[in-house]
Amino acid sequence: MKRVVIDQTRCKGCGLCTQVCPRKILVLSNMVNANGYHPVQCTDDELCMGCANCATVCPVTAFEIYKPMPIVVAS
Ligand code: SF4
Ligand code: SF4
Repeated sequence: MKRVVIDQTRCKGCGLCTQVCPRKILVLSNMVNANGYHPVQCTDDELCMGCANCATVCPVTAFEIYKPMPIVVAS
């Protein structure tokens, strides 16, 4: 399951999220969105630690962060 979901249509390419990601997995892409910005993309979803730093600083709420739930099996 993806841990970080980015709405690239909302992104304004400000780069704030790229500066606060401790795993350095957020980069501005080469593509251009409908608003003329280079939207951010995640280079390795598996490395995301779900800290939500990116979601906290993003001015346009482009992020959804998901954390895997532990599965407890009763014996
Ligand atoms: S949740 Fe944390 S580790 Fe994951 S992309 Fe955002 S800032 Fe990086
Ligand atoms: S902080 Fe938000 S608007 Fe800025 S580059 Fe990241 S996703 Fe785009």
